[in-house]
Amino acid sequence: MKPIVLLGATGSIGRQTRDVAARQGWEIVGLAARSASDELLVAANEFPEAVVVVADPLDNGRSHFETVLGDRVQFGDDAVEDLASRRGVVVVNGIVGAVGLQASVAALEAGNRLALANKETLVAGGPVVLEAARRGGGEIVPIDSEHSALWQCLVGERRSDVRRLILTASGGPFRSRTRSELENVTVAEALNHPTWSMGPRITIDSATLANKALEVIEAHYLFNVPYDAIDVVVHPESIVHSMVEYADGAIIAELGAPDMRLPIQYALAYPERAFVPPDPFDFTAQPLTFHEPDTDTFRCLALGYAAGRIGGSATAVLNAADEVAVAAFLEQRIGFLEIADVIDAALETVEHGPVTTIADVVAYDHEARRVAGEWIAGRG
Ligand code: MG
Repeated sequence: MKPIVLLGATGSIGRQTRDVAARQGWEIVGLAARSASDELLVAANEFPEAVVVVADPLDNGRSHFETVLGDRVQFGDDAVEDLASRRGVVVVNGIVGAVGLQASVAALEAGNRLALANKETLVAGGPVVLEAARRGGGEIVPIDSEHSALWQCLVGERRSDVRRLILTASGGPFRSRTRSELENVTVAEALNHPTWSMGPRITIDSATLANKALEVIEAHYLFNVPYDAIDVVVHPESIVHSMVEYADGAIIAELGAPDMRLPIQYALAYPERAFVPPDPFDFTAQPLTFHEPDTDTFRCLALGYAAGRIGGSATAVLNAADEVAVAAFLEQRIGFLEIADVIDAALETVEHGPVTTIADVVAYDHEARRVAGEWIAGRG
């Protein structure tokens, strides 16, 4: 096991990665987070050898951190990038949002394995990231449960034999609701995810199916499979994490209890499987059910396919507009169904083009945020 650099150390993925590392006795040599929070100090105490990086150089907690951690703490985005580009480490990117892209590129250019939980890396900057991996010799492995499942179903198989990828979606808390029932749902209702415990943006994205849209795009880039060969099926129990159908009609699925620690440790230890005390899975506990996704009600999924097929900048625009829309929904400035309207407006308004550099991605990201912000401000 290579030493671990953990970016986004205080978020949901970050906490679970620390948990896995502590349980397996794996070394974490770098911890990065946006702000100088108490949670980051907890992480710093858990891994006393780790360098600690706070991305925001103007953070209120800066002097306190400098007093407590001394030489161990560094500040600024450059320090995050330095951490990601250390040689001979595996980099876990659990940063939320498009800011994670730069760190992903740095890790791959340094030839590192990038264990990717930051969806925006591939959704916003797919072509840039793949090129960085090619140039630096780095390797992208997924942490997201669906993509980890697809990866596990693909190991040892020929890609030319793949007929389609089938991503499962829990459907979120509003599965089977109609549009009129969704018009006035509250933030608290949307944050109440039935099976997975995650951060606020991804939880709202799960409720709108925007999360699944991002995952379809991510799967396209990760596994080099066309959009026509990527399907989504709603599976509320979240036991089947995703499946691959092959040319002969055989379908291979990866199943288990919903626990992000499994994909995290698979990404870090691959090709080995880390030992975990067995907790036998009870196949008789509940039936496993599957449904067609309702893309008329949950428009974000259809918008994801549309953006993916346009390619280039469109998925960066989708991602940025969604991030702005979710923030506005959490602040109760727009309704739940309007999240899709914001994305739609951004995809309609921002001109499409290729993305070949991080600067391209950033430019499209900013433009999409501007358009999304205008739409929200001009509403009503
Ligand atoms: Mg997922």
